[in-house]
Amino acid sequence: MATRPDILFPLFAELETLPGVGPKTAKLLGAMDVATPRDLFFTLPHTGIARTLVETLQGHPMPDTVTVRVTVGRHLPPAQKGRPYRIEVEDSALRFTLVFFHARADFLQRLLPTGQERIISGKAELYDGMVQITHPDHVVSLQDASEIPGFEPIYPLTQGVAQKTLQKAVAASLTRRPTLGEWTDPALVAREEWPTWSKALDQVHAPGKLADLSPDHPARRRLAYDELFAHQLTLALARLARRRASGRASVGDGHLLDAVIEALPYKKTRAQIRALAEISNDLGAPLRMNRLLQGDVGSGKTLVALLAMLTVVEAGGQAVMMAPTEVLARQHLENIQSIAGPARIRIEILTGRDSGKARLEKTDALAKGEINILLGTHAVFQKDVVFRDLRLAVVDEQHRFGVRERMMLGAKGEAVDVLVMTATPIPRSLALAQYGDMDVSVLDEKPPGRKPVTTALVANGRLDEVIAHLDTAISAGRQAYWVCPLVEESETLTLTAAEDRYAGLRARFGEDRVALVHGQMPHAEKDAAMERFVADKAKILVATTVIEVGVDVPNASIMVVEGAEHFGLAQLHQLRGRVGRGAEASSCLLLYQPPLGKSAERRLSLLRETEDGFRISEVDLEMRGAGDLIGVAQSGLPKFRVADVETQSGLMALAQSDARALLTQDPKLQSPRGQAARLLLWLMGHDESIRLIQVG
Ligand code: ADP
Ligand code: MG
Repeated sequence: MATRPDILFPLFAELETLPGVGPKTAKLLGAMDVATPRDLFFTLPHTGIARTLVETLQGHPMPDTVTVRVTVGRHLPPAQKGRPYRIEVEDSALRFTLVFFHARADFLQRLLPTGQERIISGKAELYDGMVQITHPDHVVSLQDASEIPGFEPIYPLTQGVAQKTLQKAVAASLTRRPTLGEWTDPALVAREEWPTWSKALDQVHAPGKLADLSPDHPARRRLAYDELFAHQLTLALARLARRRASGRASVGDGHLLDAVIEALPYKKTRAQIRALAEISNDLGAPLRMNRLLQGDVGSGKTLVALLAMLTVVEAGGQAVMMAPTEVLARQHLENIQSIAGPARIRIEILTGRDSGKARLEKTDALAKGEINILLGTHAVFQKDVVFRDLRLAVVDEQHRFGVRERMMLGAKGEAVDVLVMTATPIPRSLALAQYGDMDVSVLDEKPPGRKPVTTALVANGRLDEVIAHLDTAISAGRQAYWVCPLVEESETLTLTAAEDRYAGLRARFGEDRVALVHGQMPHAEKDAAMERFVADKAKILVATTVIEVGVDVPNASIMVVEGAEHFGLAQLHQLRGRVGRGAEASSCLLLYQPPLGKSAERRLSLLRETEDGFRISEVDLEMRGAGDLIGVAQSGLPKFRVADVETQSGLMALAQSDARALLTQDPKLQSPRGQAARLLLWLMGHDESIRLIQVG
């Protein structure tokens, strides 16, 4: 096991080794996640105070933080206990008072001797029409005037630690800095006009004005970049390590693909062509593929997956594709079988419903290699499901599949290439942070001819109009979803709301024409209800949000979302994506209880304005912050100290390409820059990634 280089030791010492930091302060800082000198200097000031030197407080606007030269006058000790100690002072034109509570007289007499001149700095304010400064922040003699900073950095505070203590500790932590080499691409440093790491630290802790605290300041950008670069370097190392692990090259001859593509009633979109090229490139290389296919609902991921699977079948291998639910797996089967007909290969489905002889026949055929493509649910993980030569695993709707399942899949074939598909658009910067160890293909274009979905906001008072609209649509042969909100505090309330709505709609539209699905239903019942809807027997599907993922019923052209103000942007976007899939014009009705709050108003209006999932996700990120958006713990998104994924998003992409480029040139990190990058990994606490560096 590699150990941290000696040169960094002073940065990882205990906080108590810094002057002015005792056990109590150390503990309080610990609560702020600051445990070492390194953590301290990566804690940046969030604001600052200008201590403008003024000639006199006469006529100066109050209250204001000022620095002024005074002559000390009389001391007025408190006449009775609990009253403040007051000291009269005079600047060039005005006499005013300094006020101290609970102060020791001898201390004040030494600090402010009568008749002497002092520079003081603090917040001047009016009290009963008189100017006073209570507990000035600085009192120094004339020759020490330079000790008062013109602009003082203010750090995010933990209760009980004084600004001064923190400022001192930060200054001391900075003296522990060793001289480190440059790990950033020199061309990038030059182009961005970034200071060195060491200079950047000096600059961020000594801002000259408020503007210097902006995330756009070169010093702040540089430090943020360092942090993101270390993160991306770790991800890039993980990616390389995985790709190196026993991959197999699957190169097809194109005969199956050609047959299928020729028979398609449409042309591939440019985005599909691009994604497919990226995937076949990976499949054809003797490396293990680990690729994310990101595309909004309806962008045509299934076709891309099918063509990828056909490629490995052409090469003599097998492929498996997994969906999170039975219904979705069956839908894939139907869909894929209809497109893949001309390929004349065997495609089967395996789910929890298969049992007995029929199941045995399938697993047998699979082991013999007679089944080319298997679709299914989690059931494909069962021990006795054995492939003859599994080469590609496609995982649909990734957010319902954990990392563990993905690894189990890997165990089914020696060198399985993995393609993960997700319909949850996330902003590019987050995708890079979260999936930086994967390669990403994006379907950023929808097949032509899609009708836009009309989105309307409807106040609850107009429920009658919504029902009338439904009536018309159903009479015309359409179907509709009706989504009831989850009541966070109570599952019972959620259920009651959905059941009440269900009962109401049944009374209005007829018993058989309305179906209900909710989270607490047994699986079989849920599937049965869904199937009635898919088969167009039920016209309205009342649901809690369980329909969010993947169902495809082109005939459904209305989406009603009740209590829309309680849903997040991403959720509403997903829900709306359920309609607009057929030839008919579709609509999405967002019901809400007025008055709308500011943020709900913004969310719902944005949805009315756009159907662009990526744009929606960017606003979502801006409104909620990265942590809430994907959940920091589950996403593996680290907590950055300096970098701000929201405001410095461009840096993440830069860091990724730079990290990958460095490893291409110097996979063992041996060059001077590579050595510096190793130190950066240690510095940023990515200790575990050191062992990923290619050995030998
Ligand atoms: P998703 O990305 O949500 O999984 P699908 O793969 O289900 O999207 O595709 C949505 C619909 O678009 C399907 O009905 C599919 O047949 C159709 N489709 C896919 N690719 C194209 C294309 N290039 N041109 C026209 N329609 C397409
Ligand atoms: Mg899909």
